[in-house]
Amino acid sequence: MGRFGRMPETIEDYYARVMAAADDEGRLAIPIGGIPYWEVFPFEAEGLRLKRIEPLADVEEPRHGEDPGQCTCAGWGQAAEPSSIDDEVWRDDHWRISVAEPSGAPLILMLVPLAHHDFTTLPKERAAEMGQIMVALGAAIEALPSVARVHVSKWGDGGAHAHIFFFARPTQMPQLRGTMLAVWDDFLPRIPVDVRDANARAVIQDLVRTYGGRGVGRTA
Ligand SMILES: [Zn+2]
Repeated sequence: MGRFGRMPETIEDYYARVMAAADDEGRLAIPIGGIPYWEVFPFEAEGLRLKRIEPLADVEEPRHGEDPGQCTCAGWGQAAEPSSIDDEVWRDDHWRISVAEPSGAPLILMLVPLAHHDFTTLPKERAAEMGQIMVALGAAIEALPSVARVHVSKWGDGGAHAHIFFFARPTQMPQLRGTMLAVWDDFLPRIPVDVRDANARAVIQDLVRTYGGRGVGRTA
C-alpha cells in the first residue's frame, strides 16, 4: 500500500473474484435471505437457480445512437408537429417526455434531452434542469390516486442518448415495492390505453403548472 492506497480493481480481477465464488458449472448460489426470499420477489424461491456466469466479453458492445448522426434524436428537431413523434407527451426548449406502451404499471414515462447527450456528458445547465424536472415530475406522478411512489431509473445500456425512466408504483400493494416493480411490470395485466392516458394527462398538467413546458400529443 503506497501513499495513495491500492489501485481500483480491473475487470479481469473482478471477473476472477466472481468466478472463484461460482460452482463447477459457473453458477453462483442463492444466499438464504437473498432477493428470491424477499417479499417483493415475483417468483417462488424453491427450485430457482441462477444462470451460469458467461465469459467476459471481448469488448463492451456499442449502444444504439453512439454515433449522434444515427441516433433517433436526429429527427426530433425537424418534425413540424412534435406530437407526431412516437409517444411524446411533453416538451420544453431542452427536454421531452414520452409515455411507454401500456404495461402493468399505471404509468411509465421517459425523460430525454432534445440535444444529443449521454447521461454523463450533460452540460451543467441541462443537469440542473434535469434535477428540477425529476423532482417536479416525481411529485406529479405520486399525486395520482392509484400511486404511492415514483421509481426513477437510469440504466442506459440500450441507448447512448440519455434517458431516465419514471415508474409509477401502485399504492397499497407492498409486493410491488422497490426494484422488483420493473419485473412485476411484465406480468401484471396491461393497463387500458385510455386509463394510461388519463394518468399521463393528470401528471403532465401538474408538471406544466409546477415546472413549465407544454403538453403535446395525448396530453395536449
Ligand atoms: Zn441522440
